[in-house]
Amino acid sequence: MSRDFRSVVPTRYWRGLDDGRIQCDVCPRRCRLHEGRRGLCFVRARQGNAVVLTTFGRSSGYCVDPIEKKPLNHFLPGTPVLSFGTAGCNLSCSFCQNWDISRSRDADTLADRAPPARIARVARQLGCRSVAFTYNDPVIFLEYAIETAKACEERDIRAVAVTAGYVCDAPREEFFRSMDAVNVDLKAFTESFYRHICHAELQPVLDTLVYLKRETEVWLEITTLLIPGENDSDAELHRASQWVAESLGLDVPWHFSAFHPDYRMRQKPPTPPETLARAREIALGYGLRYVYMGNVHDERGESTYCHACGETLVGRDGYRITAWNLDDTGHCGTCGARCAGVFEGPAGRWGARRQPVRLADFAADARA
Ligand code: SF4
Repeated sequence: MSRDFRSVVPTRYWRGLDDGRIQCDVCPRRCRLHEGRRGLCFVRARQGNAVVLTTFGRSSGYCVDPIEKKPLNHFLPGTPVLSFGTAGCNLSCSFCQNWDISRSRDADTLADRAPPARIARVARQLGCRSVAFTYNDPVIFLEYAIETAKACEERDIRAVAVTAGYVCDAPREEFFRSMDAVNVDLKAFTESFYRHICHAELQPVLDTLVYLKRETEVWLEITTLLIPGENDSDAELHRASQWVAESLGLDVPWHFSAFHPDYRMRQKPPTPPETLARAREIALGYGLRYVYMGNVHDERGESTYCHACGETLVGRDGYRITAWNLDDTGHCGTCGARCAGVFEGPAGRWGARRQPVRLADFAADARA
């Protein structure tokens, strides 16, 4: 059987402990595993005297999405992205909006099998400019994500990661070396939120954000899901905005998106649009240039404006582009100022479509 079709593959980031357990060093959880046990993420497990990834080449499903859905507003706008995830997650957020995948312990979730080369080929056949590792956190299946990103690079397809950024230094470096763009979920700006609601820590996420901005060329955008009464106070939004402005600069796009009651947080109301507008105003007040409202219908809060002359650069209605005032390299059509991001030619025309894909349907074509 070829390497591509083996679901269980060796991994590198682990060490043996004096008490006989093996510690996984991919994320700050540092799960300590007895023989046969899986980590909290479910997909990494101890087999013998090593930690293996058990889901290489297996996916919970594929879909062609607008790149704006990741969300990435400044990376090849308007283009389609082939999106997929696996199962499991290294965080356990009470409000998870993808909990059927992230909390899955069911092999049926991983019904779709695809080696990296086939994903890259299908992405090209479908006209996608990029492939996204999304729905669950790709750092837990980094070996698969990295090989897929490399296969994509050979076909001029970009690699996009959607992640919580909860990852240790060495795997962080290896993982992001293969990525072209990333959206990092900054879930809140307090340790108590991360500890009590995500069962994780804030500081490693901030470290990832600073690393990405200062040490890499990866295009970075941030998302914060605002949950009423949990992470939406003025004080917290001011502190977060100040930190983003000072630590990451003014050009990092930031998406404030609306929470919908789900998983273990069904008692909470959905986020009112006014909360997103308030968060946006606070962030803009710190000089941030590109701040967006997400999961609500608000063209003003979804559009991109020139930081120099204030003209609309990209008008948006949901995931649909309604206005375009940039040249082919991302300069304002009115004043010529550069808009931060990755712009290559005119806007794509994918629109708001969401197209589920079965990779198996493409196998014959791909071999041809
Ligand atoms: S990647 Fe998975 S197994 Fe490794 S430390 Fe994180 S949760 Fe545990």
